[in-house]
Amino acid sequence: MNESVTKEQPIATEVPALESGPVVTPQKRIFIGLLGVTCLVLTCLAFVLWWIPFVGLSTIHPYLPAILAGTLGLIVLVVLTGSLLLTLTILTGRDFLSKKLRGVVIKVLFPLLIIVGKLFGISRERISQSFVAINNQLVLAETRKLAPSCLLLLMPHCLQNHDCTVKITGNVENCKGCGKCPIKDLRELAHSFKVDLAVATGGTIARRIVVQKRPQLIIAVACERDLTSGIQDTYPLPVYGILNRRPFGPCFNTEVPLGEVEEIIRRFVGKHE
Ligand code: SF4
Repeated sequence: MNESVTKEQPIATEVPALESGPVVTPQKRIFIGLLGVTCLVLTCLAFVLWWIPFVGLSTIHPYLPAILAGTLGLIVLVVLTGSLLLTLTILTGRDFLSKKLRGVVIKVLFPLLIIVGKLFGISRERISQSFVAINNQLVLAETRKLAPSCLLLLMPHCLQNHDCTVKITGNVENCKGCGKCPIKDLRELAHSFKVDLAVATGGTIARRIVVQKRPQLIIAVACERDLTSGIQDTYPLPVYGILNRRPFGPCFNTEVPLGEVEEIIRRFVGKHE
């Protein structure tokens, strides 16, 4: 195991640089920026929705414009308050209704911001990376220390060396520990922290593993697409996502930032012997 990461270290608020090759730096400001633009558009829309009928509504009943203004104002207030709480949680790392906010981010904001991002020419991949970083921040804010048995390390099958003939999907312990791929180190890491480690070949197997093991928290390594769909599928179960590295292209001999995995396990389960 990497000695340099066995000390207590602060948890990175951005997904840190990977250990080699091109660095992926998810930017939370993309998500926050798009959120601000969406709030502005919704506020303008609410004003227009109020103003247009205002001209005619007052002729129906003198109170109708005020009632409509109050209703739309309330909606704007809820959206702005939610956005403010979300931004505060992201910036301070403190728990401001993080679990509920995570649900709103996963179910409402992420699909909405993908559409808004498209209008601004921001790729789905970059927004997904930003979404994973925001989700991680909310998971960190809402999750306290856990027993090691409550944590599951979920890895993609593409980490396994392509030429390896050992079947590790059913049982990672079948790995012979030759060191040609990160599975050896991940297995040692899982043993040292006494946490579960599983390898999934796809979303269906991953869901089955989660149902069988019933963890309280998942640390998942995958590409942006699989991480975002996994985070959405398993909600309300918290998933801390770590982007894999694809030096040979997608889904082939991928790599994992082991230091980051160890750091985040330590954050959730504390020290180990
Ligand atoms: S470390 Fe394990 S899984 Fe990876 S190539 Fe060697 S035997 Fe296969």
